[in-house]
Amino acid sequence: MIVKVKEENRLETERRKFLKTTFTMFPLMAGAIAKLPQALAQNLDHPPNFSHQYHQPEDYLHTVCLGCNTGCPSKVRIHQGKAIKIVGNPYAPWTKWPHLDYSTPLVKSLSEEGAMCPRGEAGIMTVYDKYRLKKVLKRDGPRGSNKWKTIDFHQAVDEIVNGGKLFAHIPGEENRYVEGLKAIWALKDAKVMKEMAKFIEEEIYPAAGEEGKKQKINEFKEKFRDYLDALIDPDHPDFGPKNNQFLFVYGRLKGGRSEFFKRFVQDTFGSNNFHGHTTVCQGSLYFTGKAMSYQYGFDEKKSKFGWMGEKKFYWQGDLQHAKFVIFVGASPFEGNYGPPYRAPRITEGLVSGRLKYVVVDPRFSKTASQAWKWIPIKPGGEGALALGMIRYILENHRYDERYLTNANRAAAQEDKEPTWTNASWLIKIKDGRPTEFLRGSDIGLHKKTRTVVAQSQSSK
Ligand code: SF4
Repeated sequence: MIVKVKEENRLETERRKFLKTTFTMFPLMAGAIAKLPQALAQNLDHPPNFSHQYHQPEDYLHTVCLGCNTGCPSKVRIHQGKAIKIVGNPYAPWTKWPHLDYSTPLVKSLSEEGAMCPRGEAGIMTVYDKYRLKKVLKRDGPRGSNKWKTIDFHQAVDEIVNGGKLFAHIPGEENRYVEGLKAIWALKDAKVMKEMAKFIEEEIYPAAGEEGKKQKINEFKEKFRDYLDALIDPDHPDFGPKNNQFLFVYGRLKGGRSEFFKRFVQDTFGSNNFHGHTTVCQGSLYFTGKAMSYQYGFDEKKSKFGWMGEKKFYWQGDLQHAKFVIFVGASPFEGNYGPPYRAPRITEGLVSGRLKYVVVDPRFSKTASQAWKWIPIKPGGEGALALGMIRYILENHRYDERYLTNANRAAAQEDKEPTWTNASWLIKIKDGRPTEFLRGSDIGLHKKTRTVVAQSQSSK
């Protein structure tokens, strides 16, 4: 009880002190606040005598974050030769909304900062983290023992290129010879490589049956007898030269970096094995977008109608104007393509009431925490959920019939719709499997005669 009284007295004294100080300071603060807009305006306008030592255009480096494949435009603050802060580039629509007009002088952009995600901000640590690896690590114990030693960079290059008994100091590996890149840089004549590839594609692959292929392989061996040592397996010429035993696997190499490595691995070393990881996670996005953009038209090369004109690029939902979004397994507040662009548009949508969204994710993500509905399906249950939704839509007529009846571009244009879908087209089922689209003529409808005027590129 005594303690409580003392505590109350202390709080009361502190409150009194605070009010007294505040009232004493108020006229001064009010004066300063009144001058603030003027000061800010001056700061933005940067009068000729502006010389804030920490705010000069040359103290900022405008670049791009490579924390993920989004590649957000960024602005790095440099102080005494060191990067001390990373923010979004205020000129970029990706990281600042609304962004600065491109004609804004640099000096006026100094106090403007765009957004980065936490990973982008932490990019600074890729340079200054004290645990960053700066030396080459070489295994120093049996495989799996997690024993390593640092070696000189030149030694690493020498061992990788020339090979040798590189692990002779490890029990059990005394006599193990490791081939270096030099040993598998076997075929160096690009002309011969091309001739081999042509023979394989035009002679061996199309040859009929096992015997036919064997005969062609024998012809191949005879034709290229001077180079058989350079092949991985002369009886399997399709494996290519030993050069292909150099496999370069990368995470993300986009424009500017991929050219450099392709030149090294493919053009110089002659290996065909240059592979990125984007098969599952991003391939689905690429190929869905590609499939969505096919147009049915006349293929001049094949002289027949078919699907063509597909575009492989990143299709993005318009979060700035969307009213309802279903995020399936995506959490734009934490990752995805990427938070600096998406988070402000979603947040504005939520605050203004424009946007409602649903998150389908077994995990209660940060995005799910702000969702109108969170649907915690079981992992892998997206397909079942989609089928359930389709069924509900069909059974309850919750579809836009007018839109769906525009079965091609011409019909959509007549109906003043910018897009159309083949979602309502029927598909032929053969042996229980979906095959091609059903055509009117397949069910006895009048077969329309088309007149095709083919025009070659050169005559256009
Ligand atoms: S999303 Fe984040 S990590 Fe990815 S590029 Fe942008 S700022 Fe960098």
